[in-house]
Amino acid sequence: MMRQYDLIERVRQYNPNTDEALLNRAYVYAMKAHGEQKRASGDPYFSHPLEVAAILTDLKLDDATIAAALLHDTIEDTPTTRAEIDQIFGPDIGHLVEGLTKLKRLDLVSREAKQAENLRKLLLAIADDVRVLLVKLADRLHNMRTLEHMPPEGRTRIAQETLDIYAPLAGRMGMHSLREELEDLAFRQLYPEANRLVSERLDELADRHSHLIAEIEQQLTRKLAESGTTAVVTGRRKRPYSIWRKMERKSVGFEQLSDIFGFRVVVKTLREVYRALGIVHTTWPMVPGRFKDYVSTPKQNDYRSLHTTVIGPGNQRVELQIRTADMHEIAEYGIAAHALYKDSADSPTEMLSRESRAYAWLRHTVELLAEGSNPEEFLEHTKLELFHDQVFCFTPKGKLIALPRKATPIDFAYAVHTDVGNHAVGCKINGQMGPLVSELNNGDEVDIITSKAQTSPPSAWESIVITGKARLAIRRATRNAVRTQYAALGRRIVERLIQRAKREYSDEKLTGALPRLARASIDDVFAAVGRGEMRPSDVGRAMYPDYKEERIAAVPPPKSETGWFGLKKGKAVKFKVPTAEQTAASIPIRGINSDLPVRFAPNGGAVPGDRIVGILNPGEGITIYPIQSAALKAFEETPERWLDVRWDMDERTPQRFPARIEVQSVNEPGTLAQIAQVIAENDGNIDNIRMTRRSPDFTDCMIDLEVYDLKHLNAIIAQLRAKKVVAAADRVTG
Ligand code: MN
Repeated sequence: MMRQYDLIERVRQYNPNTDEALLNRAYVYAMKAHGEQKRASGDPYFSHPLEVAAILTDLKLDDATIAAALLHDTIEDTPTTRAEIDQIFGPDIGHLVEGLTKLKRLDLVSREAKQAENLRKLLLAIADDVRVLLVKLADRLHNMRTLEHMPPEGRTRIAQETLDIYAPLAGRMGMHSLREELEDLAFRQLYPEANRLVSERLDELADRHSHLIAEIEQQLTRKLAESGTTAVVTGRRKRPYSIWRKMERKSVGFEQLSDIFGFRVVVKTLREVYRALGIVHTTWPMVPGRFKDYVSTPKQNDYRSLHTTVIGPGNQRVELQIRTADMHEIAEYGIAAHALYKDSADSPTEMLSRESRAYAWLRHTVELLAEGSNPEEFLEHTKLELFHDQVFCFTPKGKLIALPRKATPIDFAYAVHTDVGNHAVGCKINGQMGPLVSELNNGDEVDIITSKAQTSPPSAWESIVITGKARLAIRRATRNAVRTQYAALGRRIVERLIQRAKREYSDEKLTGALPRLARASIDDVFAAVGRGEMRPSDVGRAMYPDYKEERIAAVPPPKSETGWFGLKKGKAVKFKVPTAEQTAASIPIRGINSDLPVRFAPNGGAVPGDRIVGILNPGEGITIYPIQSAALKAFEETPERWLDVRWDMDERTPQRFPARIEVQSVNEPGTLAQIAQVIAENDGNIDNIRMTRRSPDFTDCMIDLEVYDLKHLNAIIAQLRAKKVVAAADRVTG
């Protein structure tokens, strides 16, 4: 552990006028306050604030900041109070320590909304006095350096928070050294395997190119010296995390030297910066498109340098940053560089606000925030790097909703509440009616319009939304809605089937049959029937073991049964089902002169009004086809099998006949119900319905139904086509 004397000595190096008594007091006070407390590593707790203070001496910070670093955990972790600190060290230091105490309680990796709120608090605390941020960053750096002593769960959380918040914040404040170290430590914790790969490869390349790096340094220095410019040239390996990010972003490997090494040319004066650039560009060919002048146009965080890439010694691409020593100081330490101790009457905060654009930005941001000014303006000024892929929107009551970029009002609605999302029918964006499918912008005020009439969201939303939360909720809601529809349809089919079998349908009876159907609930049965996964007749048999399938069937039953229609001597004979209770059916067709069984073509039969033909199938019977049926082509070579038949309807006893239609409908909840309703309203009976194809937008359904005649069937098709949700409806003949 560093001794009291060592710390004072470090400060004295850059600040000869340091208030040693103050630092000694803070040292002794903190050491006593933490007493016997131990860190997770087993070290005395006091070693932590001491190391934090030491990190800040590297940044050459003022006495108050160093003292605050020594004291930063006392209010939170020991009986010390703010009043005591004020009394012993003055309100300036008391204020800093209290700010740090508040920050300690913020959990910045909690849920998104909470995170935004905590971030506001963080910004408020650090803008109050930027030295709070400097101590906090040093505190975090020391905790990251000693992360292995933490329990594993805590490690990940702290590393994530570091990578998400503190490292970008350090970058935003221009403190690049600190940022890089925080990133690398977090990277090692969060992605150990990736870190190992990148680091090993870096070592290997550094070994292989070590001579080249020295050569480039020497050549550059010599060339510059020849033209009278004294420059310090250093080749520097890039950090594992920054390489990893670049590899991820551009999905490239790191073969080129320029991708892993950067060279810095540090000169004395501004004039020399440009002179050095001229020498470099006349000595080696420059790589087009890589030159950037951050000297005349500094970055937001005050960073200044010239950047260029040339084809240098050994035909290697060499990346160069050219800057003065002052610029270098700011490039490394950012806002902390402005806090360099100076004999100034101004407080460090005043000094900073005058000198640092980064701090000016921070203060302005927080002023807006504190004034509670309009959110757009606030966000306009808060384009923090850490928010680069987020948009912030507001509810009409001013609640902040943080969303990923490209999020839609639908995502917004689900972020507010799942119910709001499920019932969303429209929205107002900044007071104007807008589409639910649009991209939200920073600062948008979004008012979601809901309607209870929309029971579930359109399934198409699933592919529109950006957030996982919305997608999951939509999937769940539409799955439920579709199931409900199928179950209702299945119930209708089963009930009608049982009624036609002259039996009593009851839920109790079906419940008793559940084990035979291997389903857990009657709704499961109905949904299965509705979806076409279970045959309604199976349900009938499970409920009534002596149940026999109704005679007019699209699929021929075995010969021994009576799906076949008996005809005698060319005259249609009334067909009787074997069990007397069941409905009698007949097939009113003339032109058949045999005892052979007769049936309708299985895949879409004929209905009265159709021109029909009979086809003789040896050993089986006669099948009736509508004349337009494509299946007839198969019998073109065997004209002897064709029978000339025609309808023989008895007007007084209307009968139903099986027909099949194909319907293409849009994928929206409620579509199937609408289709079923059209058919029911037009006095058609649905026998079966099954999905034949499902694309993202459309569903094709094959519907077997029973109609009186062609006119009836055509009327139903016309009604279906008139529905908005129906894209196409056509008859299918087998
Ligand atoms: Mn601490």
